[in-house]
Amino acid sequence: MTISPLAELSTHVTALLNRIEQAVTLEELLAEEPFIVGKRSILSTLQKSLGALAPEDRKDAGAQLQAARRGVEEAYATRRTMLEEASRALVLEADRLDLGDVVVTSVSVPLAVGHPGIVAVTQRQLEDVFVTMGFAVSDGPEVESDWYNFEALNIPPAHPARGLWDTFYVDLGEPETVVLRTHTSPTQIHLMESAVASDSLPIHRVMPGRCYRRDTPDARHLAAFHQIEGLVVDRGITFADLAGVIETFTHAYFGADISSRLRPAFFPFTEPSAEFEITCTICRGEGCRTCSQTGWIELGGCGMLDPAVLEAVGIDGDEWSGFAFGFGIDRCAQMRHQIADMRALIDNDVRFLRQFS
Ligand SMILES: [Zn+2]
Repeated sequence: MTISPLAELSTHVTALLNRIEQAVTLEELLAEEPFIVGKRSILSTLQKSLGALAPEDRKDAGAQLQAARRGVEEAYATRRTMLEEASRALVLEADRLDLGDVVVTSVSVPLAVGHPGIVAVTQRQLEDVFVTMGFAVSDGPEVESDWYNFEALNIPPAHPARGLWDTFYVDLGEPETVVLRTHTSPTQIHLMESAVASDSLPIHRVMPGRCYRRDTPDARHLAAFHQIEGLVVDRGITFADLAGVIETFTHAYFGADISSRLRPAFFPFTEPSAEFEITCTICRGEGCRTCSQTGWIELGGCGMLDPAVLEAVGIDGDEWSGFAFGFGIDRCAQMRHQIADMRALIDNDVRFLRQFS
């Protein structure tokens, strides 16, 4: 008579139950899992040995082993649930907020997800368009010296053009005049200066960012607003390159049926200068109230870099030429989404923003 492989079964089961009881943390128990209920458990070894039994003994032994396995698995599951709860309680205790009598327990309220602001979304879309056209994107400081914000841009202290900008001045207790930048143009000066210093001309860049003017907020003005400017400095750049970039951008961003046109204008830092207009996005050029029946809406300004600006940053105007353009990101968003009041752009009302998803 052969000795049944299950002769020691109850001893094995007792040993397994002891191992379960001895695991005092969830990690310890999980580490034991393969040896208690997994493939490396003695119960699995015994299962395999049943094949050696005579067929008439196998059924009984199988049932016996099955019952033993179920008991061990139940004990394991119970212990696991208990240790998991203990572990969660530890985490809660560690995260507990000291609110007097109030105890924060685990709650599973769905998180309210916000929505990106229209201006941020618009800025990203504009950057994408210009990057596709071969421009790189640059940042600049929002607090500038008078030199970068005005003088280097051909706007000397007594220049009447300074009257165009009601400026926020920053009092740092220093003799130097410091302002919150009134446009993103100072970044152009930084770019040209560093390109000269590192001998890394040409430049093909766009510069988006926040600017400040002392405007009282109303439907068309905000004291903090956003601009994007472009700067190209290269050899043999002409006004035709400028017009081509403006037209390509207009089609890419507003659509194939929206065109651009340039009208003579004056800016201190460009010569010649132009305002650029695009087909009215509301009436698609037919003429409406928004565009005063002209079919066109002004978007921004542009022009060839004034030789005085190139000279101020030490670029040889005989070898290099270039152009700059700029327009309001907020205005772009307003026109593309037909938002009547600019203040809606900074309210950050998620219900308003969701309609632009
Ligand atoms: Zn119109």
